[in-house]
Order: sequence, then structure tokens, then C-alpha cells
Amino acid sequence: MEFPGEEQSSEGESRMQELAALVQKTTHNCSWWERHGIDWAVLALALSAAPAGFLLLRSESFLPLCLGFLILGTAHTVVTVKGSHLASHSSLSESKFWNKFWAVVFMEVCGSFTAEKGTFQHVKLHHAYTNVIGLGDSSIWKAPFVPRYIYLFILPLAVPVLTPIVAIGLMRDLPVMTVIRTLSMITLGMWAHCWLLISVSGFQSPLSAFLCMLLYKAIFSIPYIHVNIFQHIGLAMFSPTKKPKRIYQMAHGVLNLPRNVLLDWFFGHSLINCHVEHHLFPTLSDHMCLKVKPIVLKYFKQHDIPYNEDTYLSRLRLFIDKYEELMVRAPLLTELVGIQ
Ligand SMILES: [Zn+2]
Repeated sequence: MEFPGEEQSSEGESRMQELAALVQKTTHNCSWWERHGIDWAVLALALSAAPAGFLLLRSESFLPLCLGFLILGTAHTVVTVKGSHLASHSSLSESKFWNKFWAVVFMEVCGSFTAEKGTFQHVKLHHAYTNVIGLGDSSIWKAPFVPRYIYLFILPLAVPVLTPIVAIGLMRDLPVMTVIRTLSMITLGMWAHCWLLISVSGFQSPLSAFLCMLLYKAIFSIPYIHVNIFQHIGLAMFSPTKKPKRIYQMAHGVLNLPRNVLLDWFFGHSLINCHVEHHLFPTLSDHMCLKVKPIVLKYFKQHDIPYNEDTYLSRLRLFIDKYEELMVRAPLLTELVGIQ
């Protein structure tokens, strides 16, 4: 692979500035509806569908029951993946207070995770050091002791169980008051699910309600794990001391999946078809990432910068075929010659 040479070291910076100026020209005049409203509409739709999901679970017929599970699984995914992700990047509002508020609601109450550590690991590590070995290299998603088919198709179903356990493990060095708040919010979220399942859906015992909650929370956890590994692992990896300029780091280390109605809605454009744009401009909301995508694509083409795209099925095939190389062995370093 040919990489830019030393003389392009400062060129990387000027290209990033040039692209940022082009993007800003578009985002500058956008209304609140475009900057935040469209994404809030998706989140509100998901939240407002939840009561129908709980009511449908009252049914003893197969189809309404399945529909109830599907609605609750969808609402949970939209809020905890799309909502939490946007909140972690402060993309839900212009206000610091409201971004923090929604991060606690979406990540802790709804997602049973820690807002502090989730934001730190995603924004301060993964985004700041994308594909840098030992920092933002996505190794957090690897479980090398698990065989490929178990990892790709069975283990993700344990995500709802593992999430609060991992959260508790991560909270050890947080201030006591933050730990108390997080544990209270996680408990409140789980209690609310179980209470609704008992009082609205007619479940007889807290245990059956708890198991039902884990089941619908797991509905979309297989594509959730897939998406998290498909878009970085197997691409260029960098050393902490020799990482290229930001625009090249993201161009070589990030991949977009094609548009997909379900994944776009459930996970958000910034995690699916605008992941490259999201890594270049992480504070833009999902809709704004979609809006600036043609600008980034055109700029990359004009300047011969690679723009990684691949289909979901092609990535899945690659991860099945090369599981050992991608998910078990340590990744090989890529040196973008000269641009350190
Ligand atoms: Zn992100």
C-alpha cells in the first residue's frame, strides 16, 4: 500500500483544516431540527413505542407476544446504542448540563452501564487514539479464548448480563458519590423494567420479569457486537509514537458499512454508514454526519485519500474466515511512512 510521504506531514493538517472548513460551511446554517431534532424524533419514537411493547406482552398468542418483544428490543437498542452514543459525544444538545443528564439516563438508567467510564473509554480513548495499539485499538471487544462461532453468534446474547458486571468492575476508581449515583441509576432502570413487566404485562414473579427483560435486551446484541468489530479491526493499526495525522489515521483506520434502514435507525448513521465522518467530526449528530457525508467523500476522492467501505456480509465472512488473525493474534502495526 502506498502512503503519503514526509512532505505531506503538514499537508495532513492543512487538509484536515480545509475539510473542516467545508463541513462547517454546511453545518453552520443548519437549524436545530437538523442538528438535533431529527435524532431526537427517532429517540422519542422509540421511547413512545415502549408502552405498546409492554401491553403486547400481556397476550398469550404467539404473534402479539413476538411483536411485543421486538418493539421492546428495538426501543432498548435505539435508546441505549444511538442515544448513549450521541450523549457520550455531547451531540444531543448545545447544553453541557442536558448532555450529561441524557448520558446518565440513556447509559445508566436504560443501558445499565457507567456514563463516566463509557464516555471516557469511547471518547477519550477510542476516538482520540483510533486504532492506536494499547489505547483505542478496539481490543476491548476481543475475547480470544472463545471460538469464532461462539463469539460471533452466541456470546453477544450475554451482553445484557455482562454489561452491569463490567460496569461494576470499571467503577473502582470513580468518586464514591459517582459510584452511588451509577449503582442507584442501574438499579432504578432494572427495577422499572421489572415493575412494568409485572404490573402492565402481567408477569407473575420478579424472576420471570427479570429474565424477560434480559431476553428483549439481547434481541439486537448480535449485530451490535458485529458492528463494533467490523469497522476498525483488520484495518490499519498504529503505534502510539508513530501515528499519522488525523485525516490519514481516520481514512486508514475506519470503515463505513452501507446504508441499511434497520441499522441506521437502531444504531445511528455515525455507527453505520457515516462512521468515517463520525471519526473525523465526532461532535456532529447522526443526521449531521449523513448531511456532510457527500462533502467528505468528494474531498477524499479529489485528494486520493482512501475511503473504506464494505458490506455487512462481506465483513462477517472476513471475520469468520480470518477470526484467528483478526481477533486472537496481536494486530500488526501499519506504518504510514513519513507522516509521524
Ligand atoms: Zn463515537
